[in-house]
Amino acid sequence: MSDYKFVDHTYDVVVVGAGGSGLRAALGAAQAGLKTACITKVFPTRSHTVAAQGGIAASLSNMGPDDWRWHMYDTVKGSDWLGDQDSIEYLCREAPKAVYELEHWGMPFSRNEDGKIYQRPFGGHTTEYGEGPPVQRTCAAADRTGHAMLHTLYGQCVKEETEFFIEYFALDLIMDEEGACRGVTAWKLDDGTLHRFRAQKTILATGGYGRAFFSCTSAHTCTGDGNAMTLRAGLPLQDMEFIQFHPTGIYGAGCLITEGARGEGGYLTNSEGERFMERYAPSAKDLASRDVVARAMTVEIREGRGVGEGKDHIHLHLEHLPPETLAERLPGISETAKIFSGVDVTKEPIPVLPTVHYNMGGIPTNYHGEVLTKKGGDPDSVVQGLMAVGEAACVSVHGANRLGSNSLIDLVVFGRAAGLRCGATLEAGASQPEIRDSQTDAHLARFDRIRNATGDQPVAKLRADMQKSMQENCAVFRTGEVLDEGVEKIAGIYGRVGGMDVKDRGLIWNTDLVEALEFDNLIAQAAVTVNSAANRTESRGAHAREDYADRDDTEWMKHTLAWVDDAGKVTIDYRPVHEYTMSNDIEYIKPKARVY
Ligand SMILES: Cc1cc2nc3c(=O)[nH]c(=O)nc-3n(C[C@H](O)[C@H](O)[C@H](O)COP(=O)(O)OP(=O)(O)OC[C@H]3O[C@@H](n4cnc5c(N)ncnc54)[C@H](O)[C@@H]3O)c2cc1C
Repeated sequence: MSDYKFVDHTYDVVVVGAGGSGLRAALGAAQAGLKTACITKVFPTRSHTVAAQGGIAASLSNMGPDDWRWHMYDTVKGSDWLGDQDSIEYLCREAPKAVYELEHWGMPFSRNEDGKIYQRPFGGHTTEYGEGPPVQRTCAAADRTGHAMLHTLYGQCVKEETEFFIEYFALDLIMDEEGACRGVTAWKLDDGTLHRFRAQKTILATGGYGRAFFSCTSAHTCTGDGNAMTLRAGLPLQDMEFIQFHPTGIYGAGCLITEGARGEGGYLTNSEGERFMERYAPSAKDLASRDVVARAMTVEIREGRGVGEGKDHIHLHLEHLPPETLAERLPGISETAKIFSGVDVTKEPIPVLPTVHYNMGGIPTNYHGEVLTKKGGDPDSVVQGLMAVGEAACVSVHGANRLGSNSLIDLVVFGRAAGLRCGATLEAGASQPEIRDSQTDAHLARFDRIRNATGDQPVAKLRADMQKSMQENCAVFRTGEVLDEGVEKIAGIYGRVGGMDVKDRGLIWNTDLVEALEFDNLIAQAAVTVNSAANRTESRGAHAREDYADRDDTEWMKHTLAWVDDAGKVTIDYRPVHEYTMSNDIEYIKPKARVY
């Protein structure tokens, strides 16, 4: 591999990813006096977080009574009891603090009459431990909350002198012989140089992998590169079978219409004009949890009550809402609906369909953001030098199903926690062992192999086959037969990866190579996802098996861990769910039936 030369860098902390979680972690590390770098394949404010619409959950009580314990109860119930309750306690307790921090840094939240941060209702968020009426907990900046948050955090990072490496594509984790992470390698897209970042801590904040599916709400850049780097480092991913379908993706385009639309009073109807959610979730109705609404819509369509020519989608109504509300609270989606479905939301319903939206699974971590693996019988063994935050991580606060507006809060609470942990455990400028070529040769070998691939399989074709198979075989409703077929299909596509065809051999702005590397990352995640789904013979949260319709706490109250080898063979093991809280301020919330 002597043709390639590395440019070497040394930092205390290297963050890969500049979405909400990466920026918050980088900011925290820099504030702690650590020399911090943030590497990102797109300009920071183009990260997918910018597209988040509806808002960020925190029990501020600005619109009525609320309590972090109620938020915790809702999150545990939303997770269908697969979430770790110590982490969920941390999330809900720290949430108000994390939101006020954003406010003080200048995030332009919408305001209520009293001038406080405006909060709207969101699915699954209630009062009195699920016994009371819905709560207004979701803090919003109109329907552009992620945009406001990302710009605020980027400004603060620049102020704290975080060093940005923009349009650098991270390749692989540098692991030493003891299994500790020593940094990361990256390819600089605009001049073709290769870089080695050595760090005491590497924090993966690379986001989700929605693009493993054909129809998703996430950006084209959401290819889960950090998840795949973790798999290649011989570490497992957790709970990958849990894929969230958002009820209201625009039919055909897949673009998101925020749940905030239903929070502001929007509702769904079938071809008979019926508000069918009243039958499926008598009390929460259109604001039941996302998995519940997505399944109800799918059943309506299957039973012939879909709308449109093909009877293959559902209507979302906003036209009964005052035009001022739409203009003030939902301006972004009004525009999106016009552009992507030609609908004027003040006059007609929007055609919608459940669309892949969020990955509950990811890199297992504790609530400090430290990456975990199962080693020598210890299910919570900390991987030295490596942390993960945001959608890439599985803390696990969302368990089997995430509540709307709980991701943005996850980004800042655990981004902040990771920064604090770095501050508490690292010494600025501490000496680090040299990186040896033997630790990075495999990175170069993979890069070179894909760059010079001369097979007969175009990447676009491989990717389309994978996306179609995931969409068909790992959908809202699942059966053993369909999942097993998915396992076979994905294995078949894995087998064709060696025959990949990359045309552009250059190193500068080679989008052909970027797409090939991203596809190589996606296929590994598709394999662990479909294998984990086929393996879990119960229904829980977003994982709805028609052949195992019930939740099975005796057998399945455990996290799936999945590893994949070079040939695409998946190995599965488990970690226990943390059935305990962090403090004595709240007791462990015992499992019960999940009805809305
Ligand atoms: C349309 C949409 C609307 C949403 N609305 C809401 C909402 O209202 N409320 C809510 O709570 N949640 C919402 N979500 C979910 C939430 O926005 C995401 O889960 C969250 O923003 C993910 O943030 P992140 O920091 O983990 O990663 P991202 O924001 O996805 O950022 C990933 C970062 O990693 C970098 N990266 C990735 N791979 C590489 C690589 N190989 N090399 C270098 N850099 C790399 C990228 O450049 C980017 O900076 C929404 C999601 C979508 C798709």
